[in-house]
Amino acid sequence: MHELGIVFYIIRDVKQVAEENHAGHISRVVMNIGEVSTIVPDYLTDCWRWAADKEDLLRGCILDVRTVPAVTRCEDCGAEYGTVAHGKICPHCGSANTYLIQGNEVEIKEIEVS
Ligand SMILES: [Zn+2]
Repeated sequence: MHELGIVFYIIRDVKQVAEENHAGHISRVVMNIGEVSTIVPDYLTDCWRWAADKEDLLRGCILDVRTVPAVTRCEDCGAEYGTVAHGKICPHCGSANTYLIQGNEVEIKEIEVS
């Protein structure tokens, strides 16, 4: 249950933000989850529901998961392409000299206070 660990990490962060802003309740948390991160969004929201409802601060709080598409850049020809479709090999020049520029995110984007 990798996702549950992530949920506890999110809750800890959100609590800290709420404390700093003297917020009594959080209504929505927006997450950016990269397409090639190891997180399964459905598991994440299931774990969230279970864990968040145990906290007064987060009862009924929505976890809004936004998927960030994975994009790889080729160092040799400069092309950017979809990682999921083509993997590590550049579809334009065949080079393996490539790196992921986005798509591995697991981050809190927004926290909405009610
Ligand atoms: Zn290339």
